[in-house]
Amino acid sequence: MDGTTPPVIRYPWQTPPERRQAIEVAEGVLWMRLPLPMKLDHVNVYALDDGDGWTIIDTGFDSKLTKGIWTDLMNGPLAGKPVKRVVITHHHPDHVGLAGWFQTEHGAELVSTRTSWLFARMLLLDDQQLPPPETLEFWRSAGMDADILAQRAEEKPFNYADIVAPMPLGFTRVQQGGTIRMGGRTWDVHIGNGHAPEHATFWSRDDNLVIAGDQILCSISPNIGVYATEPEADPLAGWLEACERFLPLAREDQLVLGGHKLPFTGLPFRLQQLIENHHGALRRLQEYLEVPHAAAACFPTLFKRRIGAGEYGLALVEAVAHVNHLYHAGLVSRSRGDDGAWMYQTRAGSDG
Ligand SMILES: [Zn+2]
Repeated sequence: MDGTTPPVIRYPWQTPPERRQAIEVAEGVLWMRLPLPMKLDHVNVYALDDGDGWTIIDTGFDSKLTKGIWTDLMNGPLAGKPVKRVVITHHHPDHVGLAGWFQTEHGAELVSTRTSWLFARMLLLDDQQLPPPETLEFWRSAGMDADILAQRAEEKPFNYADIVAPMPLGFTRVQQGGTIRMGGRTWDVHIGNGHAPEHATFWSRDDNLVIAGDQILCSISPNIGVYATEPEADPLAGWLEACERFLPLAREDQLVLGGHKLPFTGLPFRLQQLIENHHGALRRLQEYLEVPHAAAACFPTLFKRRIGAGEYGLALVEAVAHVNHLYHAGLVSRSRGDDGAWMYQTRAGSDG
């Protein structure tokens, strides 16, 4: 912060739209919400008026309930005009779940980054009855509690295809440096990383709107996780790189439309705050790891609050992201503990 502007985040709407209703957040831009059966109980979706049809941003899970709500939205706030295009910000199921349904049932075009599309198509094919050995190995390496590990080893894991509709072939790619025309505006495409690889964000050239997906959120911080898909990944580096790249684009007057929680203004401050929160967490971890610990033992230091059973999985992948970042930066070393978990320890002489 340069000290000349007070660091203030504002929420122009204190309450979200009712189910099956929309709030017009700017001319031709509707904000709607779909329910999720999780602790984070909703996802925001947007519809942009293209004249003869709508472009929608993200879709919610594939479920009977969500399809019913979309049908009511199309007959209600969307006034019966067709959804001609679906833009997905990233491949997570709450965002991409019904993209294939809009393509197949409504003839919509799909717009996505190449990585989001490839990840979605790949995960749709990954049908697991039990966690595969690589996943068990990943959990063991992360220091998952033995009881939880034993229980999960016997349970059918979450399958992407359970909540994401089949996706037909074909999509239109957006990429860094490109533009897209939607809702009567030209938007610059800026690619984020870290929450999901090649996560699309859209910055209006014609007014103050930013469609941020889950790359930048207000009042919660985007989950940054490492998964068995790429156990050595350093998504925190990718997230920090993207958000630092976004800083010069951020303005006080921008209205940020995110994938969760409320639209907000105060993007320059929020970006700085999120970046600093991660640096703070990394500093705390380095201190904590003066004594060797597994990733799963870092929850209290990392989150500064109790992690319930419903959050355990997300907390674990986030903890691995932070220790991986320190490890790749050469700030901690690691060795296998007796139970197979990586034990991380701050390197002598590294003071962060
Ligand atoms: Zn999300």
